[in-house]
Amino acid sequence: MKGLARKFSEVGPERGVERLDRESFKKFGYAFVDWVADYWEEVEKHPVNSPVKPGEVRAKLPAAPPEEGEPMERIFADFQEVILPGITHWQHPGWFAYFPANNSPPSVLAELLTAGLGVQCMSWQTSPAATELEEAVLEWLRQMLGLPEGMSGVIQDTASTATLCALLTAREAATRFQGNERGAREPMAVYASEEAHSSVEKGVGIAGYGREYLRRIPTDERFAMVPEELERAVMNDKKAGVQPACVVATVGTTSSAAVDPLEEIGSFCRRSGVWLHVDAAFSGSAALLEEERWMLRGVEHADSFVFNPHKWLLTNFDCSAYFVRDAELLVKTFAILPEYLKTGVDEQVKNYRDWGIQLGRRFRALKLWFVLRSYGVQGLQEMLREHLRLARLFEGWVKEDNRFELMAPVNASLVCFRVDDGRRDEEELERINRELLERVNAWGEVYLTHTALRGRFTIRMAIGQRTTAERHVGRAWEIIRKEAAGLVGKEG
Ligand SMILES: *Cc1c(COP(=O)(O)O)cnc(C)c1O
Repeated sequence: MKGLARKFSEVGPERGVERLDRESFKKFGYAFVDWVADYWEEVEKHPVNSPVKPGEVRAKLPAAPPEEGEPMERIFADFQEVILPGITHWQHPGWFAYFPANNSPPSVLAELLTAGLGVQCMSWQTSPAATELEEAVLEWLRQMLGLPEGMSGVIQDTASTATLCALLTAREAATRFQGNERGAREPMAVYASEEAHSSVEKGVGIAGYGREYLRRIPTDERFAMVPEELERAVMNDKKAGVQPACVVATVGTTSSAAVDPLEEIGSFCRRSGVWLHVDAAFSGSAALLEEERWMLRGVEHADSFVFNPHKWLLTNFDCSAYFVRDAELLVKTFAILPEYLKTGVDEQVKNYRDWGIQLGRRFRALKLWFVLRSYGVQGLQEMLREHLRLARLFEGWVKEDNRFELMAPVNASLVCFRVDDGRRDEEELERINRELLERVNAWGEVYLTHTALRGRFTIRMAIGQRTTAERHVGRAWEIIRKEAAGLVGKEG
């Protein structure tokens, strides 16, 4: 931004209000695009994980709002001095924490257009193109993942919201099934593996099932749900007068990317009339690859399915793709038509406000469209393949070094591991691995996070950043080995 003279040639219509006129908007707009492009280029110079202490950013912010408008130069200078140090750099190629939230140039450019258009996409009428583009790109995604024909899609903000929608729809379906739409009804239960994401429990609470009616189904040695245990839990509930309403199967669990067997779970759900929701928030993207499609075997039994293009498909947050088999049931769950929202075409079009919780909706389909067209299916497949290759490479390194052990089978691009030289008890292993993770992250070049698998502290290496290359994965391994040497000695 240096060298940009102050461009506020006008003062706004109200006294004391500065505003960006058309020319200033362009100037700053071009400059900000330059800044973002340079940021992506140089993001490696920042520590991946922000080093600020709690309260540090807040302390630099005025307690009260500005009375008078401020020049953009000053606002932007504060962005760089106050905000940027408190940013954790998710777009850093050394990002191996949690899950990726990768974005891309076409996605960001489309977001700019979306913000500029500033439309609300609650009904067809409020922007016909937004509705029809959303229908089209979600049909593209359905084909790309090989989801059953006839499933229709809608964009939700997050997988948590999509799963809540599934739980609400399943509850409606189960209520109708009982033929008792009002008044007293049996309690209803939801089933998910003990490795399912926390959003399932949250959703069960919000949807009113009662958290005590979430059944945590045991998993096998691969951390995948055991279908026989599911059947047993369902039978027990039926005997006790509790109605089984919904099973949430996970394709790619958060801790270890474990894959619940959809085939067995799904056919059981079909037989017993229980709603099947599939949470593939992270791993779903991998289904773009023929060789990874095995994960979705049995998905034809699913009533609903969610995955996040905002995680591993170059579409910046937020954009979660939710698919349902029976759109009518979804709409029945959420439809509401007050007089002020009625339009003359309601019979002929989709009104996406009835496909979820929110009324006002962002125009998220645009960035997805830009990404899908800009990369093409092949471009996206290439990225996914490369990340999978890097994960296999890292897995190989872990296996070769006898101070380390793999903690779970490697699925998608997530490797779970820890130091274990076979000479320590669990308590000491936990202490050492916590210490290892802290020391590795302190380098600022890479960022990894942890989980617990069967109560054992586990380090996760999640590969999925757009710009992550072999050298970044190699560097992570180099740092991990160096720090491990300090804790348990050299390889030998
Ligand atoms: C990331 C993730 C979620 C949560 O996704 P949000 O879009 O942040 O709500 C849910 N389930 C699984 C399996 C995930 O990986």
